[in-house]
Amino acid sequence: MAMAMSPEVADEIRKQMLDAQKNKMRPKFDAKLEAMYGDKRKDNAKVQDIERYMQTVREVKAAQDKPKKQLTSLDRRRLKKYSIYNLKGKDRLTTPEDDPRLMRYFVPIEEMLDAVFDAHIQAGHGGNSRTYKEVCQHHSRSVCHAMFVAMCEKCAYKQKSTKKGIVLKPIIHSQMNSRCQVDLIDVQSKPDGEFRHIM
Ligand SMILES: [Zn+2]
Repeated sequence: MAMAMSPEVADEIRKQMLDAQKNKMRPKFDAKLEAMYGDKRKDNAKVQDIERYMQTVREVKAAQDKPKKQLTSLDRRRLKKYSIYNLKGKDRLTTPEDDPRLMRYFVPIEEMLDAVFDAHIQAGHGGNSRTYKEVCQHHSRSVCHAMFVAMCEKCAYKQKSTKKGIVLKPIIHSQMNSRCQVDLIDVQSKPDGEFRHIM
């Protein structure tokens, strides 16, 4: 049986596959970030966890709402460093720029992997320099640095498979039906009418 896949379904499958890839990378990535920033991360304004990040958003907003005369030196420092941009309904800290195209986003530590990995995909699984360029185009330096601790399984696999030949790994997961694997069988040599592949 052959079925046409709607673009929506294809998008959803693609998204789920990317999420699965990210979740696989997450433990290693988080451990490396932790080693990089350690206990300092709560006070270090460059890398904030989501709680501290939202706190900073509130502080910047409050400073933005104050009349100039009432600004404390702390307010001024915040406004010099940050602005707020609402991206898809979420308040994000950005560098303060007159031209929105120059804005660089700060990202809470919990979302760093998404920022880095999405840029890596955007760069077509590009190598370090292409991924770095893509990340840095839109993100603060802390996110750019985080890129170097990310490790894409697919790219690692690509490197290995060229050396050892292609070996398909089965997908093992603890929950039933939480993952699936689709095989595409090529029957172009013996097509069934117009159909040349079996899924
Ligand atoms: Zn990759």
